[in-house]
Amino acid sequence: MKSLNIILFGPPGTGKGTQAQKLAHRLGLEYIATGDFVRDFAKKNDKLGKEVKKYLDSGELVPNEIINDYIRKKLNKLPKSSGVIFDGFPRNRKQAEDFKKILQDTKRNNLKVIYIKSSEKALVERLSNRKICKECKKIFPNPPADMKKCPQCRGKLFIRNDDRPMVVRQRLHIYNIRTKPLVDYYKEEGKLVEINGDQPIEEVFEEILSKIGKDNCSKC
Ligand code: AMP
Repeated sequence: MKSLNIILFGPPGTGKGTQAQKLAHRLGLEYIATGDFVRDFAKKNDKLGKEVKKYLDSGELVPNEIINDYIRKKLNKLPKSSGVIFDGFPRNRKQAEDFKKILQDTKRNNLKVIYIKSSEKALVERLSNRKICKECKKIFPNPPADMKKCPQCRGKLFIRNDDRPMVVRQRLHIYNIRTKPLVDYYKEEGKLVEINGDQPIEEVFEEILSKIGKDNCSKC
């Protein structure tokens, strides 16, 4: 079986991170989340770290070169036989075009693009309720208010700075103008798989598995 590479994208709050983590686990894929990379990068106390933090806190996209460089290095380190799931990348047309080249250079030809479609009205509410584990980065979409630690690794749970309603609205705006046009880009490339994101988590997951196709999933 050729190693499968999956891009998961959709508006912020659509549950793509949760689905990406579940898929990586089920299909044995490497998981690459550019948002996690950016959050770690923004903790650095140097000039570039501080600059990246500004983009992060305002919901703006970090410059393409920083992200593309990270993706290229990450893929170069992985064996060609391991499939990868990309969460939060590419985010605009330039990244998608550069990514096409990176995939060709690293001989990763089996690509599917999962687009999780969601109505905007539920998104702000979903984001303001979620928490993330500082250690293992697991996402908890709607944990009880008194849940402070990750049940898996006991890491501290935190609420993302950019999940505040004002920043969420800005992220949605950026998504609509920069990332949404990738729907047409990948439709033209014949790689787009559309998923209904307005369903419970498990149903979204099952729809993704069934649309990926049995030939791409030895565990389905
Ligand atoms: P996410 O966790 O995917 O929602 O990403 C959080 C933030 O990290 C975004 O709002 C951007 O500021 C930055 N970021 C993540 N991925 C990218 C990307 N592919 N290109 C540019 N900025 C990104």
